[in-house]
Amino acid sequence: MTEFEARSRWSLAVRCDRMGAYALRGATPDEPDEIQRGYFERGKQLENHVYESLALQYGADDLIRSKPIPWPAGIAHGDIFIRSLGRSIEVKSLADPRPLDYHLAQLAGQILFDEDANDGALCVVNPSNLQRRWYPMPVVTDELAERVHATAQAVALSADPSSPLPPRVCGRPSDAQSHMCPFSGDCFAGWVAPDPVELEPDVALLVSQHAELDDELKQAKATVTDVEERRAVVREQLGKTIEPAREYLNRDDELVVRRTAVAGRVTWDVDLAIRMGAVDAATLEPFRREGSGYDRWTVKAAHLADVEPQDASRTLAGLVAGEVGRRGAVLMAALHHLYDDVELDRRSSGRARTCRGSRGLCGSRGMSSRVGRRGGS
Ligand code: SF4
Repeated sequence: MTEFEARSRWSLAVRCDRMGAYALRGATPDEPDEIQRGYFERGKQLENHVYESLALQYGADDLIRSKPIPWPAGIAHGDIFIRSLGRSIEVKSLADPRPLDYHLAQLAGQILFDEDANDGALCVVNPSNLQRRWYPMPVVTDELAERVHATAQAVALSADPSSPLPPRVCGRPSDAQSHMCPFSGDCFAGWVAPDPVELEPDVALLVSQHAELDDELKQAKATVTDVEERRAVVREQLGKTIEPAREYLNRDDELVVRRTAVAGRVTWDVDLAIRMGAVDAATLEPFRREGSGYDRWTVKAAHLADVEPQDASRTLAGLVAGEVGRRGAVLMAALHHLYDDVELDRRSSGRARTCRGSRGLCGSRGMSSRVGRRGGS
């Protein structure tokens, strides 16, 4: 074992090559806060839970906890290994049962680097109700294998402190939250936000209108949700009287009501199945359909974008009224026409919203906005 092997962790490297490199070089990680420690503890508890079930099924002698697996930049540790099957098991705690992208890479590496492993499986446990969903990985696809080896090589090559670090996956410090990175302080030490492109007043007005329309859409969606919830309550009451497959008459208002039982729809996450190696993409090629790309627009307050607002006095009230969707499209088209790759920001209106993508680890709140043209996502 080299001095680096004890330091590097595959579970960090799969989230970001650079994170793996910091671990390899022995950088001091940030201490997890109380909430993060709680998440880690919960993860361990759920892993124990899965282990106990597997021990009943296969026998404890057939299982290995935290099996050490050498990889080019250190030692990985798979959660549970079933000897008789040569199966690597990775347990994840997620309310949404769909595993994350890096979970697949983590498991793929634990299969590829372990000469005892034949295949693997992700076990996603819902922490609220302990429901488990198993995702088998019978083979590691070429795409995943390529990614695993590229990550391993990038991290291993960074062992020499004089060598360059792998590129950042984060555009700015605030992005580190979504990667649960303990090295963001080192990574962004001395970083200065690039100056934003100043907009001409006519385009700046469009951005302000965009932000106002975002607010209107949010309020409209909240109204729709409220109406749907109230209608669901009425339907629940009606359901006590109205039987399926019959018509009932409300003579006062000349209304006929009918209740039709619709069976639940089965859907298949084919994309995930292909990536897990459970389905061969070539077999499905005739059924493949590709949608057209699009631009994703977001609007973020200047102070959340590490940008100093230039004009805090601008008011947006009264700029826009009615026909939100139509004029939103016009605004986007106008911005699209004028700027191909630009960031535009405005000061918060004071309304708070929780940022997405932080997986609940980020305490920042505030209305936010960034406008940037990107490829389809
Ligand atoms: S801050 Fe972002 S880019 Fe830097 S090491 Fe962490 S995850 Fe990677």
